[in-house]
Amino acid sequence: MSLLAQDAEVADLGLRWQPGFAQLGPAFFTRLQPTPLPVPYWVGHSDAVARLLGLPAAWRTGAALEALTGNLPVAGTDPLATVYSGHQFGVWAGQLGDGRAILLGETAGRQEIQLKGAGRTPYSRMGDGRAVLRSSIREFLASEALHALGVPTTRALCVTGSDAPVYRETVETAAVTTRVAPSFIRFGHFEHFAAAGRVDELRALADFVIDRFYPDCREAAAFDGNAYASLLHAVSKRTADLIARWQAVGFCHGVMNTDNMSILGLTIDYGPFQFMDGFNPAHICNHSDSAGRYAYNQQPQVAYWNLFCLAQALLPLIGEEEHAVAAVGVYRVRFPAAFLDRMREKLGLPDAREDDGALLDALLRLMASERTDWPIFWRRWAEHRAGADAAPVRDLFVDRAAFDAWSLQFSERLAQAPQAAAPDAALRANPRFVLRNHLAQQAIERAQSKDFGGVADLLALLQSPCEEHPGMDAHAGFPPDWASTIEISCSS
Ligand code: AMP
Ligand code: MG
Repeated sequence: MSLLAQDAEVADLGLRWQPGFAQLGPAFFTRLQPTPLPVPYWVGHSDAVARLLGLPAAWRTGAALEALTGNLPVAGTDPLATVYSGHQFGVWAGQLGDGRAILLGETAGRQEIQLKGAGRTPYSRMGDGRAVLRSSIREFLASEALHALGVPTTRALCVTGSDAPVYRETVETAAVTTRVAPSFIRFGHFEHFAAAGRVDELRALADFVIDRFYPDCREAAAFDGNAYASLLHAVSKRTADLIARWQAVGFCHGVMNTDNMSILGLTIDYGPFQFMDGFNPAHICNHSDSAGRYAYNQQPQVAYWNLFCLAQALLPLIGEEEHAVAAVGVYRVRFPAAFLDRMREKLGLPDAREDDGALLDALLRLMASERTDWPIFWRRWAEHRAGADAAPVRDLFVDRAAFDAWSLQFSERLAQAPQAAAPDAALRANPRFVLRNHLAQQAIERAQSKDFGGVADLLALLQSPCEEHPGMDAHAGFPPDWASTIEISCSS
């Protein structure tokens, strides 16, 4: 098959398409085709996402491989790249946009399909429009992992690779991730039109988002019936719930710029992310973030700051500043409550009590002082709650007396619960398999020598992370010493 698509040559993915984002009109995007890559190959794929899209069972055809790498047009689509702006590291960055992601379109099942790394766009600035194999595998695995953990996220259908060189700190090779989400609209899309004083486009965008994703905002009586204030309120709630889930699973995003914040409250744009190993509240996963703006314990505050940027952008539509401030204000109540709920699930507490926050803080302080491994502590704790001996949990602590004292406090608290928790409740809230940096790294290194089995094996574990998966103990253990030397930067 020729790499450069002939006029008549198109791939039919077996999907029906409908007008989605493109309805907004040309002020919001630029039409363009992806730039081809030579001799593509499959790197990883998720049949769960294929089912979500309604793809046929045998969807991984040669034509699909070419199409999802950007080498063949997809029948029924008219691809585009969208424009947005944003605040990066707290500073207004002006126009950004889809610099390497190309939206194929929206399926009849209301999922957008986007090819990330599919070549330059008018918004690429100095970039090459490409993504490297390493970061593409990380995004693919992480989005499927977070989804399985119940954390809202964009999904990934597949990663395809090519030996075409991509120049980062070293020479790497190119890959394309096929991303899937109901919408890839970011806070930055709103900031873009607000900053330029283009209120008509700003309103069209807000109306589009409300009509499709937040229809209740039209009927809401709150904020004197102001639908735009209700939208901000709803987004603030979703964002609070999202960040609560990140904190509970120990997920560090790494680049919480406003252009990386989803209007649907999804995890989006996986770059230098990390799932926490030893618990360090001030952990910085992004090697380029020397000031720690996006450290683990800063994430809740940064999300709130980002919501203020969104509020500022929506202000011309909301009108009343008081409404805008009140709408984002819900975050300050919702986040701590949601976080505590998630942590009660992890602890295996069947009910809520006022002093649970203090009980949790005492545990987190102890864990922070000892850098206790986050996934292993929680999994062993869950096994203990399900009836196993306490020794494997206790053995994680150098200061056993401190742990015993906390454990006693926990037992006293549990005794006050009106009913017992299901013995396996905590097992369902505490995964045995987590996408730690070193596991991703091992799969990446194998993939770089064309062995894609590591990606598939890891995906299978991450898709049902709370199951036992006998024989896979090595993937559930402590990180090796070399894990702490892995440096993940913005370079992707
Ligand atoms: P990020 O913070 O990685 O999500 O990216 C910030 C901005 O840079 C977005 O507008 C991206 O589309 C753009 N970008 C990142 N990497 C590249 C690249 N290799 N080529 C073109 N644009 C890029
Ligand atoms: Mg981004």
